Amino acid sequence: MSSPATSASSDTESLSTQPPTVMSLAPSHNALVADRVAQKSWTIEDSEKLYRIQGWGEPYFSINAAGHVTVSPKGDRGGSLDLYELVESLKQRNLALPLLIRFSDILEDRIDRLNSCFARAIARYSYKNVYRGVFPVKCNQHRQLIQDLVRFGQPHHFGLEAGSKPELMIALATLNTPGALLICNGYKDREYIETAILAQRLGQTSVIVLEQIEEVELAIAASIALGIKPVLGVRAKLTTKGVGRWGGSTGDRAKFGLTIPEIIRAVGELEKAGMLDCLQLLHFHIGSQISSISVIKDAIREASHIYVELAKLGANMNYLDVGGGLGVDYDGSKTNFHASKNYNMQNYANDVVAGVKDACDERKIPVPIIISESGRAIASHQSVLVFDVLGTSDVPRELPEPVDENAHQIPRNLYEIYQSITPENYQEVYHDAIQFKEEAVSLFNLGYLGITERAKTEQLYWACCDKIQAIARQKEYVSEDLEDLEKVMASIYYINLSVFQSVPDSWAINQLFPIMPINRLNEEPTERGILADLTCDSDGKIDQFIDLRDVKSVLELHTLKPGDPYYLALFLGGAYQEIMGNLHNLFGDANTVHIQLTPSGYHIEHVVKGDTMKEVLSYVQYDAESLVESIRRQTEAALQQNKITLSEAQLLLQNYERSLGKYTYLQS
Ligand SMILES: *Cc1c(COP(=O)(O)O)cnc(C)c1O
Repeated sequence: MSSPATSASSDTESLSTQPPTVMSLAPSHNALVADRVAQKSWTIEDSEKLYRIQGWGEPYFSINAAGHVTVSPKGDRGGSLDLYELVESLKQRNLALPLLIRFSDILEDRIDRLNSCFARAIARYSYKNVYRGVFPVKCNQHRQLIQDLVRFGQPHHFGLEAGSKPELMIALATLNTPGALLICNGYKDREYIETAILAQRLGQTSVIVLEQIEEVELAIAASIALGIKPVLGVRAKLTTKGVGRWGGSTGDRAKFGLTIPEIIRAVGELEKAGMLDCLQLLHFHIGSQISSISVIKDAIREASHIYVELAKLGANMNYLDVGGGLGVDYDGSKTNFHASKNYNMQNYANDVVAGVKDACDERKIPVPIIISESGRAIASHQSVLVFDVLGTSDVPRELPEPVDENAHQIPRNLYEIYQSITPENYQEVYHDAIQFKEEAVSLFNLGYLGITERAKTEQLYWACCDKIQAIARQKEYVSEDLEDLEKVMASIYYINLSVFQSVPDSWAINQLFPIMPINRLNEEPTERGILADLTCDSDGKIDQFIDLRDVKSVLELHTLKPGDPYYLALFLGGAYQEIMGNLHNLFGDANTVHIQLTPSGYHIEHVVKGDTMKEVLSYVQYDAESLVESIRRQTEAALQQNKITLSEAQLLLQNYERSLGKYTYLQS
């Protein structure tokens, strides 16, 4: 996390750790089939369809004629750059992979889009008030991003939402847009509340949202002590059922918010203190990534009625804050699947505006300023995580040699099976092959089959699978047991990344993100792989991928060409992933660059170098100098005992000291 200035000297030497080697592939059935198919010539349209880039990527990501991913950071407003070429040129500037590339123009476009959707809805329903969005800082707290956000939000009076004391510190110091809201959520103590009230004196429109009943008393006391009237809100626990992963954010047992009886009690306490006029906002949040529009409509209906009732009770109601939940279409299917959503941003804005208006008109209450706290929908698209593949490991796919007559019965049987596989019997013989393989293991364990024969058996088994798979892939439909074959035969692609650090939600909650190669998209991806990361944790892998229907267990990838870089990118990970990432195995933050489109190309706004080894070691209380000292002492002792030569000792110390200042990832 050092500044670009101090880390200008960069990491040009490679580490002593060797990446896994690329296993050479003997020509297999799949490769042969692939060759034939390749002649039919794979097009970028085929890649578009395969990786569903239009579904999740429009209008920012697409594929160009060179077979590279292109980024159009301004959306429909023109201008684009070739992501592969960008990565190549960043590498030449000593910015090693993995690289997190932020496109500030995308962030701006998202803010503009959300605001124009609400503006359109307001015009369409002749809504007699305005929309004032806020960005929930918890989605991505990085300074440059928050600063950009505030700047881009200025024309829309876009504000910030803080969910904790440290986030309030950020929001208070950064927000400088007159009229923008500073929404104060989360657990609060006296100091939090005082700070939020005093912020008014700086010209901030800070609203303290009471989330726990105890906070009512705290707010009253702080206000009396300071002699300043706060703007207060209440967060309601709605009965409307949330759905999916964050379904538990609503209902009586939700972690935050006041129940209806508690809201009534809060109104009573405020009234008694002569502060009912301070209560101006109603807030709810029914969870993130709401995939179904009907859930949103239900919540709006319930919340609007609570709003109207509070106005009737004499509160000075002025704001309705509909929280987050606006979803992102990670798989591009436009469905209510958890990785998708069955509505677009305009539908969302329309339903919010229309729902609130209906409830207010019915009871002749003036319509409120509408606030949304959309985080995911604003921050997800702006960053792209690019990483390289270090090598692959494949199941053996060699064509088998004939088995002679004196060989053991099992390899002989398997060879016969191998030869007999046809498009008619492939499914049936698949089960025979499995059975023989299992039998071989039993016989081996009993001492009736030697290790060479067992090896032969396994080779034949994989050869059968390879042949069967080649046939299965030509079929329109295959049964479930054969679908498993894809998973069994999948290659492992070793990626230069830590899932725990960079995509924690993939590991923690099985969230799906679009992942695809950024080059060679004009070539057919003939392999099927899963991704294994650098950590020595078997959970450090990605083996679920977006698909039109449900989820894919393997990703279509290209064979590696020695000496040719092959880059993969993970998209839509700009919300939540960065801050929730952890230091498992001590892989640190990735190098981050901020890119802005210019008329003649692009401009690198900021470079935030990823953690060095020294930095991650210091997080766990190791001091680099003491570590070096320990190695120095050990080498000295080894020298004394003639266990190491002087030049070996020198090399060891040199590598050790140099590594400390370097990136935690492998250098290819
Ligand atoms: C997390 C959170 C948000 C952001 O939700 P998204 O679904 O990312 O838009 C908004 N408001 C509150 C109170 C939250 O806790």
